[in-house]
Amino acid sequence: MNLLPDTENKIKVMDLNPHLLCSLCSGYMINASTIIECLHSFCKSCIYSYVESNKYCPICDVQIHKTKPHTNIKPDKTLQTLIYRLVPNLLKNEMQRRQTFFDENPYVG
Ligand SMILES: [Zn+2]
Ligand SMILES: [Zn+2]
Repeated sequence: MNLLPDTENKIKVMDLNPHLLCSLCSGYMINASTIIECLHSFCKSCIYSYVESNKYCPICDVQIHKTKPHTNIKPDKTLQTLIYRLVPNLLKNEMQRRQTFFDENPYVG
């Protein structure tokens, strides 16, 4: 039960916004994943496709891993929960997007 007035909630989202956005796609993070070397976070799909060709963090240039960058990228459940809580429509929109995807591609999965 959230007893905070609406306005206070909105201010918090504004303050936190920069930490919730993925610098690779400029959207709210989906399946937030954090580089354990520097704790920068991105969408899982964004950072995974990024490390296909680059082993350095897109924000701070730290080397993620010499050979297997995926091993140093961990899903960040706390951050993702926070994003979904602060941006309740995100989950809904994402689910709708996926539903559309499955509707258009009935044989996938
Ligand atoms: Zn992204
Ligand atoms: Zn970094």
